Amino acid sequence: MIVQKFGGTSVEDAPALERLAKIVARSAGQRPLVVVSAMGDTTDVLLEALGRAVAGDGAAARETLEKLERDTKRVLDEFFGREATSVCGEIAGNFEELRRMAAAVAVLKSVPAASRDHFLAHGERISAAVAARAMRLRGLPTVAVDSRRVVITDDHFGRALPDEAEIEKRAGEQLVPLTARGEIPVLGGFLGSTPRGETTTLGRGGSDWSAALLGAATGAAVVEIWTDVGGMMTADPRVVPGARVIDTISFEEASELAYFGARVLHPLTLAPAIEKGIPVRIRNSRDPDSPGTEIRRDAPSGPSAVRSIASKCGIATVDIVTSRMLMATGFLKTLFEVFARHETSVDMITTSEVSVSVTVDELSRLDSVRRELEQLADVEVSEGRAIVCLVGQDLKFKAGVAGRIFRAVEGINILMISQGASRRNVSFVVDEKDAPGAVRALHREFFR
Ligand code: ADP
Ligand code: ASP
Ligand code: MG
Repeated sequence: MIVQKFGGTSVEDAPALERLAKIVARSAGQRPLVVVSAMGDTTDVLLEALGRAVAGDGAAARETLEKLERDTKRVLDEFFGREATSVCGEIAGNFEELRRMAAAVAVLKSVPAASRDHFLAHGERISAAVAARAMRLRGLPTVAVDSRRVVITDDHFGRALPDEAEIEKRAGEQLVPLTARGEIPVLGGFLGSTPRGETTTLGRGGSDWSAALLGAATGAAVVEIWTDVGGMMTADPRVVPGARVIDTISFEEASELAYFGARVLHPLTLAPAIEKGIPVRIRNSRDPDSPGTEIRRDAPSGPSAVRSIASKCGIATVDIVTSRMLMATGFLKTLFEVFARHETSVDMITTSEVSVSVTVDELSRLDSVRRELEQLADVEVSEGRAIVCLVGQDLKFKAGVAGRIFRAVEGINILMISQGASRRNVSFVVDEKDAPGAVRALHREFFR
């Protein structure tokens, strides 16, 4: 079996659906299971509608949803022709429910986390129904499967954690028999369900993770992530126009890149693949003949000590200064317990005898964290920062790399520096506005 996941742009319009059907048809002999994201920017539009509803503007929310429905219908008309009415009928209930939910939220002016997940998940549910019908029209024996029957998670709405054992059990019961019969299951990524049947989501960009979870659960030979770029690249091509596709990269390198901002892959995607040793391929749905990037256990060294450069904006740094750290055993434990209590995970850490600096990317509970830390030390929180991260399995073997890195970004104010214990990664913090320039300067230095 193989898993083929198509991101938003790879299902956004009629030509994209046409390409999707061709790509899956080519793999028909390998028993594909298809995972799709919401079409185009549907998730952003749903969030916009929800925002308007929460603000109490029911009319604006309704208008946003009606425009989304019109845009979706236009795609269906173009792809399905005479069958469009029947496909529209299949997803009419989704839009109807979205409208009803938005109206209720506009009255209450707030939305519980569970309802929010249920609302957002309609994007992938619509997309799975459409993609299954589109491939069927092109002669493929697809079956739309409700992900909530298979992808069981806890009830951390908005970033639910999957129950891998349960997913494996259900995939074995519900998906494997379909593929064994030659049918092609089509599931929406991103969404799942608690054991009690409440809809959950895995966090933004989570469809990649869904694909990997289903790949691991079914023992797939490969998980293919079909997207809008040629593969994992030496930098985000939107930041560095000259970025190049990487042929092969190790699980560890790709994980670090995903974690530090390479949006092409959701950071948690590789965990299930690593566990089962399943290679992951990133491929371009607009250029299906090019091989893309293979992510696997071992990857040969590339032409440069640096494999790729990523950056992540929206970071805050927290500087904690106290003379009590002097000689006080257990102080760090006390500090990190504060972050843990507020479910705020820490990415980068640097310490000196009297200070600790950390970065966090989840800012929603930062005020509570700060208040508690202030009981222990002087605290300064600065938002609007970015992490720039260089990744390469050979970094640790190459003398002089640090010198090259920091010479290349000489003119930029560097606020924190860290080299991961793996020595596969060198990261530093800059002001958000300096991040693109830093990435471009580093790319010139290492990939000229
Ligand atoms: P999808 O909708 O297919 O999931 P995403 O938008 O989530 O696609 O991810 C693809 C985008 O990731 C690309 O358009 C690119 O701008 C961005 N990106 C960031 N870093 C990298 C990188 N190192 N290599 C490739 N793409 C990257
Ligand atoms: N549609 C979801 C999002 O935009 C999940 C995904 O695309 O992976 O975040
Ligand atoms: Mg994505």
